[in-house]
Amino acid sequence: MIKATAVNKYFGDLHVLRDINLEVPRGQVVVVLGPSGSGKSTLCRAINRLEPINDGAIEIDGKPLPEEGKTLAALRADVGMVFQQFNLFAHKTILENVTLAPRKVRKINAEEARKTAMELLDRVGIANQSEKYPAQLSGGQQQRAAIARALAMRPKVMLFDEPTSALDPEMVQEVLDTMTGLAEEGMTMLVVTHEMGFARRAAHRVIFMSDGEIVEDEAPEAFFTKPKSERAKDFLGKIL
Ligand code: ATP
Ligand code: MG
Repeated sequence: MIKATAVNKYFGDLHVLRDINLEVPRGQVVVVLGPSGSGKSTLCRAINRLEPINDGAIEIDGKPLPEEGKTLAALRADVGMVFQQFNLFAHKTILENVTLAPRKVRKINAEEARKTAMELLDRVGIANQSEKYPAQLSGGQQQRAAIARALAMRPKVMLFDEPTSALDPEMVQEVLDTMTGLAEEGMTMLVVTHEMGFARRAAHRVIFMSDGEIVEDEAPEAFFTKPKSERAKDFLGKIL
């Protein structure tokens, strides 16, 4: 579903993605771990074309990433992304936030968009917040709204970049539960997170990045109990 082949990315002289090869089959949940600056966010941004790559190829569902224009909008519709900061539109209600892109990009009519949005808000547990504005919701509720908004485009893949890092501790679990539910329903997911409990429970694979490289690619149990590289041992020593 996601296929990256020999991907390289530079910021000036800084080589931030080094020959990345990664295949995520349909329905698989991959957690990406690694120290700050190792290239995790850049990899996510490269996959949905927020960041151009210098070299290599990325395919989503067998289709190469387009250069730009209309097809790019279609690609972004296929790849849902949830960030650390929720990025909801502050001056729109939660319901409007969720219906906006399906109406504009997918050309879905207002009534149908509303129905789908309410189903999604119900699924993430905030249907009763639909008429409120983002600032009137807790951080956890806002992040669940952001997940519903991404899902409203019926993406084939969901990318999460530290979706719980900006949340107060008591709100982390409700967002992780929502993500676990999605994983159980078979969504293909790439998740950058420091939540090791989620990685152990929900991930099929753990990828460990360091200095722009994928250093390990293992089942969670194997990675956490027997990391192979010194870099991964060092990383786990600091966080566990
Ligand atoms: P963190 O855990 O802190 O979020 P990360 O693994 O997500 O880190 P990236 O954000 O992908 O790391 O950054 C990888 C490297 O690229 C870092 O050295 C960073 O400083 C650099 N970098 C990221 N974005 C840019 C940019 N727009 N311009 C220049 N350098 C950048
Ligand atoms: Mg990052």
